[in-house]
Amino acid sequence: MTDAVSLIRAKRDGQRLADDDIMWLFEAYARHEVADEQMSALLMAIYFRGLDGAELRTWTAAMIASGDRLDLSSVGRPTVDKHSTGGVGDKVSLILAPLVAACGAAVPQLSGRGLGHTGGTLDKLESIPGFRAGLTPDETLAVLASVGCVICAAGSGLAPADRRLYALRDVTATVESIPLIASSIMSKKIAEGTSALVLDVKVGRGAFMTSYERARELAETMVALGEEHGVRTRALLTRMDVPLGRAVGNAVEVEESVQALQGHGPGDLMEVTLALARQMLALAGLDTDPAAAIADGRALAAYRAMVRAQGGDPDAPLPQATHTQVLAAPASGWLTSLDALAVGIAAWRLGAGRARKEDDVSASAGIICLAKPGEAVQAGQPLLELRADEPERFGPALAALEGAVAVSDQGPPSALSPVISEVGPA
Ligand code: URA
Repeated sequence: MTDAVSLIRAKRDGQRLADDDIMWLFEAYARHEVADEQMSALLMAIYFRGLDGAELRTWTAAMIASGDRLDLSSVGRPTVDKHSTGGVGDKVSLILAPLVAACGAAVPQLSGRGLGHTGGTLDKLESIPGFRAGLTPDETLAVLASVGCVICAAGSGLAPADRRLYALRDVTATVESIPLIASSIMSKKIAEGTSALVLDVKVGRGAFMTSYERARELAETMVALGEEHGVRTRALLTRMDVPLGRAVGNAVEVEESVQALQGHGPGDLMEVTLALARQMLALAGLDTDPAAAIADGRALAAYRAMVRAQGGDPDAPLPQATHTQVLAAPASGWLTSLDALAVGIAAWRLGAGRARKEDDVSASAGIICLAKPGEAVQAGQPLLELRADEPERFGPALAALEGAVAVSDQGPPSALSPVISEVGPA
């Protein structure tokens, strides 16, 4: 028989938590016998002391066991999903899910909403008139079986312990802990029932992980957790110093995703999307070239079918902002940097993101990057187009963009691939 105070003290003093103790903790927390303040203290002890591999495996298993686990065995195709740790202009899911479905896999993308400077996939899709992100488990399975992909909100039944823990971490400065992040992400993905998973771990100024070493450690931790729970898992580390593609916002990112599915996507966006698609198809055991599914229109057809199956009209005009303003190049030369974090914060201030979970987002607000690093620019040329529904939003957005662009006459800078490295099982 154990108790919460003993577990907090043990972790505080650097001792391991036994499997039985972790399972007891989550069961008692679900019964409200362990209080939020006790769980918060334990989270802080874990923030400082960490969890070893065996503790983390059990911690994650307990989070999965706190709710339902979807059974996707009726889908009739190999299931494979992708998770991104979040970036600015990261609309990859909108292209990737239908692309991989068009190649023969089933993609159950149970996603979240955006918070802070990185956008949420569901917020983007909800800018399509009629689109429904809140599906029942039966509806989710039906769309997945008929179309091959579904992008919807993770229901409250999946890893409910994570929802409570995340809310505590958010207000106790314990979000930035690798074992806590890894167990939070992986418990939801494993509970979703996918057989295989590819992680896009973003690194850089606009990412959750700003250092390569921490991003790699997170990727390795999540790959190990997935494999230990029977989910074939790989990760790609990809750059997030500059927004991905040219559009940052909600409707503007849907528009750019459709262009990408029509074969007109920007180079960096397509490189990341195709690299992830190849990994997903390999894990699903499908020997298919994803680029061909874009070229012949199959991926676009799968996207349109998914939008329709979720109540949306893929032909309906998307909401347009009523006001625009541009940020001009300060000098002539080569654009050498465009700070993803600043652009993300500016788009958020324009209304594209939310500060609190309860806030609404504007479908039409956002930023179009008219130039990207590596391109030649002339002084006074528009670099960014800011879009908003309320003109008073431009001031705070422009303030966020101070110092966000750099132009140099020493150029052109050498282009770096957005895909940095791949992480597989140890
Ligand atoms: N995303 C999650 O789902 N959980 C975390 O802890 C961090 C990012």
